[in-house]
Amino acid sequence: MKSEKLTRRQAITATSAGIAGLMFGFPFRSFGIKNSSQVQKLAINGGDKIHKTAWPQWPYWDQSAEPGIIEMFRSGRWWRGNGEHVTEFEKRYAELMGAKRCLATASGTTALLTALNVLGVDAGDEVLVSPYTFIATYNVIFAHKALPIFVDSDPETFLIDPKKIEERITENSVAIIPVHIYGLPVDMDSVNTVARAHNLRVIEDACQAWLAEYRGKRVGSLGDLGCFSFQNSKHLASGEGGAILGNDEDLMDRCHAYHNCGRPYGNMKPVTGNQYNGLNYRMQQSQALILLSQMKRIEKDNDVRLANALYLSERLKEIPGIIPVKPASGATRAVYHMYPFRYVKEQFNNIPKEKFIRALNAEGIPCSGGYGKQNKEGLIEEQLGSRGFRRLFSEARLKRWREENQLPANDLLSEQAVTFYQSLLLGSRSDMDDIVNAITKIYENRNSLS
Ligand SMILES: *Cc1c(COP(=O)(O)O)cnc(C)c1O
Repeated sequence: MKSEKLTRRQAITATSAGIAGLMFGFPFRSFGIKNSSQVQKLAINGGDKIHKTAWPQWPYWDQSAEPGIIEMFRSGRWWRGNGEHVTEFEKRYAELMGAKRCLATASGTTALLTALNVLGVDAGDEVLVSPYTFIATYNVIFAHKALPIFVDSDPETFLIDPKKIEERITENSVAIIPVHIYGLPVDMDSVNTVARAHNLRVIEDACQAWLAEYRGKRVGSLGDLGCFSFQNSKHLASGEGGAILGNDEDLMDRCHAYHNCGRPYGNMKPVTGNQYNGLNYRMQQSQALILLSQMKRIEKDNDVRLANALYLSERLKEIPGIIPVKPASGATRAVYHMYPFRYVKEQFNNIPKEKFIRALNAEGIPCSGGYGKQNKEGLIEEQLGSRGFRRLFSEARLKRWREENQLPANDLLSEQAVTFYQSLLLGSRSDMDDIVNAITKIYENRNSLS
């Protein structure tokens, strides 16, 4: 009879396995258990793939927007100067994001260019910036003939490491651009504290962080100005488009003026002739109408992405060598423009990340390798070596820049990062199980990959 009774330890194990099975409903969980997925051949080696159906496509079109768009096109009121839709979008987006003001722009890049200009970034200045980002974040610094100073990343959060900001500040530093990459909120209290101590302006690159929250507040209005992108791949998409958020009326008036050929706006002194510098970075009416219609779905979509991302993290962390992203201190809501994790090849029989990605793609799971070592891209030497840069920065300064441009943590992050695009996160729970099962399958068959 003794053999029929479970020991206490066995009972606990059995119960928790049962509960885990119920909670997650996963088809298999098989580390070290033979005769499960181990017998399955990897798709890259000719076996069956795990995920056989299509993934959600992006973007979605909302047909109910069509009559309004056709009406606008027929009226000829295509630019913001003689139409109401851009202004309406600005009002609605500011409300949605909890900011006083919003200025719509032609793109995220032009939003950043405007913000840098209005906050006084000038030729010969230095701007601190996160290296783990889309290239536009530091191209706009180069566009102002300023020097980007890359602050090393925290590989756990994929974000700027706030502890490493101060050591990179010099007497020429004027601003910092924290990037909420993948919609993961940066620890903004830490960034703002260093910025205040050194009189730096803070421009949030929130181009991937619509509705992300830090200590319960939406990012993009936590620094001096925050910039957003509505390019086609983004959660709020209109082909091209962008916005600046801010709470300072004067700064926002100047952003408006700058993006509109320098025409004074709001409380700015009216002038005769052209007294203010500016460019044309205006959003079109058609972009605003698309955005107004897309805004109807973003909160619901973000909820789905978040639930799926949290589920993935919970399950992926069980697989040896897979490290899900960790939220930064104070981050209360991430929006996952990508779902990122780190792949530790040493746990996968030293299979290079590129091969792991190909194997996962073959299983029907699209993924990619995240951002590269952007602080070492060719365009940087092209800029530093340019006539203008050599005039603005001493040889000694550029030499020191090159010596200091060592970012070991960001190098590691770039080597290990793997990402899933946001539309995968709009899939079902069983789609998420397919992702976990495919990675588990690769892990268990790692010896057949080398
Ligand atoms: C998309 C993006 C930008 C640039 O936005 P565009 O609208 O493409 O000009 C800047 N920074 C980050 C982090 C982005 O993802």
